[in-house]
Amino acid sequence: MILNVDDHEAGRYARSRLLKQAGYEVAEAGTGKRALELAASLQPPLVLLDVNLPDISGLEVCRRIKSDPKLGSTLVLQVSASAVTSGDRVGGLDNGADAYLVEPVDAEVLLATVRALLRMRKAESDLAEVNKALQMANNLLVRRNEDLQRFAYAASHDLQEPLRTISNFTGLLDKRYRGQLDAGADQILTYIQQGAARMSTLIHGLLIYEQAGQESGAEWPSVDLSQVLAWTLKDLEHSIAESGATVTYDPLPTVRGHAVLLSQLFQNLIHNGLKYHKAEEAARIHVTGKKTQNANEIAVSDNGIGIPSEYHRMIFAPFQRLHGGESPGFGIGLATCQRIVERHGGRIWVESAGLGAGSTFYISLPTA
Ligand code: ADP
Repeated sequence: MILNVDDHEAGRYARSRLLKQAGYEVAEAGTGKRALELAASLQPPLVLLDVNLPDISGLEVCRRIKSDPKLGSTLVLQVSASAVTSGDRVGGLDNGADAYLVEPVDAEVLLATVRALLRMRKAESDLAEVNKALQMANNLLVRRNEDLQRFAYAASHDLQEPLRTISNFTGLLDKRYRGQLDAGADQILTYIQQGAARMSTLIHGLLIYEQAGQESGAEWPSVDLSQVLAWTLKDLEHSIAESGATVTYDPLPTVRGHAVLLSQLFQNLIHNGLKYHKAEEAARIHVTGKKTQNANEIAVSDNGIGIPSEYHRMIFAPFQRLHGGESPGFGIGLATCQRIVERHGGRIWVESAGLGAGSTFYISLPTA
């Protein structure tokens, strides 16, 4: 449907005829007032609008159509008398017209312009449909994700209680009866205790992973990463000494962030550096920091077993492990790191030249 607005009956008739012959449905108005009424009731995709109308100027009609939210997708093709200046043309387009033709308008040019405008409108409405569908899918995903997070948090949180009961009573059993039953019973007791300890570590890790996704970064204070790393190394002192590793670091920048989460980030990366060292060589881990144009970049590098390039992305997904059997762990350390970094608006990635070549984990945090 095209609304053809022109106060000259003969010209209006000729254009309507041309448009009808080209297969369009046409409605007609001879005044600005009538044009606005018909635009509101018919909501045509395109208005062919003469600038010189007897009551309201065509420019004003165009402005009103374009400012009516119900007619947001209506296109306006303005047609003016030959005497227009380029200022009139600019005025028309500035008032929201989508195209502007000057009399005498060639029939072919008019039809081609109408076709082009309607194609544009179709593309816009297709895009709007796609955007709407995307928005809906996105909302659904966000809701599902929130549900899943609540579920995972509640499940891991509630599992702690029965696990504590199992640990307490097997501890009691161990204290009172170890050595009094036969050797098989003692072994079973040990297995139960090891299983409970492993499960407790897993639940603890899952809770941290969940928590890393919940903290909001709106009001985070400045945090000196050198200090955060110093605290973290204090916590890891025992494991570092035990494995004979050396951990060194350069001065690190100050960032806006959550000190506990950032400490967890260092802890997971350094702990991995300790775990995944080469059998013949003690771990050497070095942490550096530098300012780039818009970010603070931290690098944690080790001389360990390295990671083949095809796994560089995969290892950040939850429960993905490359060295499952040989080292303790559940595959949620790096997933937690990724969550923490994303929570800070940053990015984490690994570079490694492959097996035996060591690895460097990079963290880029935006400067506030
Ligand atoms: P976990 O250590 O519990 O397996 P992570 O999520 O921390 O879980 O790591 C996932 C996997 O990435 C590990 O199983 C290991 O195969 C690999 N990986 C992580 N850090 C290193 C590292 N510094 N050197 C070599 N491999 C690593």
